[in-house]
Amino acid sequence: MTLTRRNFFKASLGGAAVASLAACTGNDSPGGKQYVPFNPKAKLNISFQPSTLRRSQERGAEDWSLNEKLDIMERLGVTGLEPGGSGLANRVNEYKQALSGRNIKISAICAGFRGFMLAEDEEVRNLCRDTMREIIVAAGALGSTGVIIVPAFNHQKPVMPHTQATRDFLCQWFDELGKFAVENGTTVILEPLRRNEAFYLRQVSDAANLCRDINNPGVTCMGDFWHMTQEDVSDMGAFLSAGKYLQHVHIASRARRRIPSTDGEVDNYVDGFRGLKIIGYDKYVSYEGGNGDEALLKTSVDLLRKQWDEA
Ligand code: MG
Repeated sequence: MTLTRRNFFKASLGGAAVASLAACTGNDSPGGKQYVPFNPKAKLNISFQPSTLRRSQERGAEDWSLNEKLDIMERLGVTGLEPGGSGLANRVNEYKQALSGRNIKISAICAGFRGFMLAEDEEVRNLCRDTMREIIVAAGALGSTGVIIVPAFNHQKPVMPHTQATRDFLCQWFDELGKFAVENGTTVILEPLRRNEAFYLRQVSDAANLCRDINNPGVTCMGDFWHMTQEDVSDMGAFLSAGKYLQHVHIASRARRRIPSTDGEVDNYVDGFRGLKIIGYDKYVSYEGGNGDEALLKTSVDLLRKQWDEA
């Protein structure tokens, strides 16, 4: 993008925050085309969930095996795999074997715990804590960046009230779980969701605010473009506010939560990618939502790479 007066001011959106990022360097490329200061550490590492690739849309049709999916991912240059946490402890060796000798690592673990953290009922909270601890141990053994957790979905009841006391409790609870995660070489990752799914935690900046207050290297947060489309006014602003606490990113098409590129022009991630470049994000951008065959996924990852370059 050429530097024009209009673009300059557009780039200055949240200007002070951008300007004050001391680690950022100007990227006066030889062509002199780019103007946004970015951190050279930033890298687009694409990750899939096992369900992202599907051989056929037909019901009951046989799906690819994990190894067949990993072969396709390698052909597409996808370097991360995000499995679910349910039953993960029994699958550690299977995943280790499948990834051995490949240029693919476990990116993050997607939930899979039972119970929920903000339950009124202590037994339900403890079930959440104990199943999270099991998943954290497995995640650490697999070298995952973290285990994703949502404090409470709207349908989970009875739930603690939305008060300062509950927030204090949440901070203490995550501090303890974060310490356990650090001991196991991984983290817990707070995921904000759309209001119709989880009213408690909706914005990336609010999740980052919890991380800052908890101040524990084992407690991190993420942004999911699907939820951010509704809840965060600016993709770039959301990622800038998360800064060093941002540990993972989910991505989907922006109108129907399918494979990115399938919703046409609304599947634009440039503004968010610009934020990721400025904060020097070098973890994973992981597909969550929908599925497709190799040809569709090729179109999709090509689009993300093109938009990353444009950012
Ligand atoms: Mg998500």
